[in-house]
Amino acid sequence: MTRIWIGALVGCLTLIIATVSKADVLLSNVVIVDLETGSLSPGQSVLIEGNRITAIGPGITSNENVDRVDAGGRFLIPGLWDSHVHIFSSATEPDTALALYLINGVTGIRDMGALWPITEQKALQARIESGEVLGPRLILSGAWVDAAPGSWPGMFLANTPDEARAAVAQIADEGWAAVKSYSMLDAQTYRALAEAATEAGLPLVGHIPERVALETAILVGQTGMEHFGRIPMACSSAEAQMLVDLRTVMADDANLDTVFAVMAERNGIILDTWDAKLCTSVLARMAEAGLHVSPTLVVADFYTRNWPTADAPRMLMIPAAVREAWGQPDFRLAAMTDELLALANDSIALDRRTFTMAHDAGVPILASSDASFANPYLFHGFSLLDELDIYVAAGLTPREALFTAVVAPPRFFGLQDQDGTISVGRRADLVLLDANPLENLAVLRRPQAVIAGGALLDRETLDKIEADLLEAGE
Ligand SMILES: [Zn+2]
Repeated sequence: MTRIWIGALVGCLTLIIATVSKADVLLSNVVIVDLETGSLSPGQSVLIEGNRITAIGPGITSNENVDRVDAGGRFLIPGLWDSHVHIFSSATEPDTALALYLINGVTGIRDMGALWPITEQKALQARIESGEVLGPRLILSGAWVDAAPGSWPGMFLANTPDEARAAVAQIADEGWAAVKSYSMLDAQTYRALAEAATEAGLPLVGHIPERVALETAILVGQTGMEHFGRIPMACSSAEAQMLVDLRTVMADDANLDTVFAVMAERNGIILDTWDAKLCTSVLARMAEAGLHVSPTLVVADFYTRNWPTADAPRMLMIPAAVREAWGQPDFRLAAMTDELLALANDSIALDRRTFTMAHDAGVPILASSDASFANPYLFHGFSLLDELDIYVAAGLTPREALFTAVVAPPRFFGLQDQDGTISVGRRADLVLLDANPLENLAVLRRPQAVIAGGALLDRETLDKIEADLLEAGE
């Protein structure tokens, strides 16, 4: 994938953010939406002190020094999470990314791989947590481990079980939230990685390596898997053969082109050999094991050229240098013949059908976009809402789709003060909406207010942030 490096951005967002009130807030006359049960509680007030919810009820009173906001019967949900993003792929990416998440009601993100040193990532995380920087809550899960030379720069590398154990020791020492396995690890090294992660008390998340079966990932205790493609592959009666074929060419030290050619053939084979009955048992197994999936279905939009027009606000809000990099010829698209595009569309349809089956089978899902300045046409914030729309188009109800962005992520991350409910003692990450989101997710596109770590961004402030993003993107 193309790598891009952005020059310094203007600091006007920081100015806006500095003016955001840090006072306590009393929201009155809200309808609290419970995304677990779908129940609505009208006529509620919610008191926010510092970054916590401290009281909820119909008749809350408070001292003089609070911002009083009459919500006029609007709907209140906990803030959204995007469970797979990359905000550190350039020096200044977070400056823009943090604001793009907030204007879309996304108050939590899990970073899954970065070019920044962990010390700098942790410093930003701490500044967000303390309220010094306004941004979504940040989970640092980008300690990716791959076989040498590494699919991306800056990865941890492991070609042997010993190297895997050493990588995990360093990851634990550096304080990452998880170990992330990557595509080119061999089976033995991957097993050692999983074992070491378990011993270190770190969850193993990430790619199921290309030479490893999905069932193996379950057996070694991987708890989170990124992207969706390996699920339809496990629903194919040819999964084992495809793994053997790849192991064979890689054992022969074939050049990378041959390796990628074998991998590229998988989509066609899966379409021919996908088996509904097998799929039902695979999905039941995943649900039983609690293997969480971050589908990133929206990534397909890049290949099908489902891109916004050049004048769409989301295009204009990203830095000009990023837009320019995205507009460069791409080798993946150049290779896309009509025949391959038809195959891609069939694969996307099969992914979505399998996705719906996975959800119905109780496979836990974490809504995620893979947004990054290095991933063309995947947008911080906006693409998470697109991903939720895909879930609804695939057959989930709006409540079920929202559950994957609001309730499932903080529970999977084991956060003490957040569980996708609006209740006393929880962190004040909230979104105020003009209409009931359980009826239509379109209302998420223009929140009336976003509260991030207790800081209230009303519509006027959100408009100002959008205006500044547009100006910075010029
Ligand atoms: Zn990613």
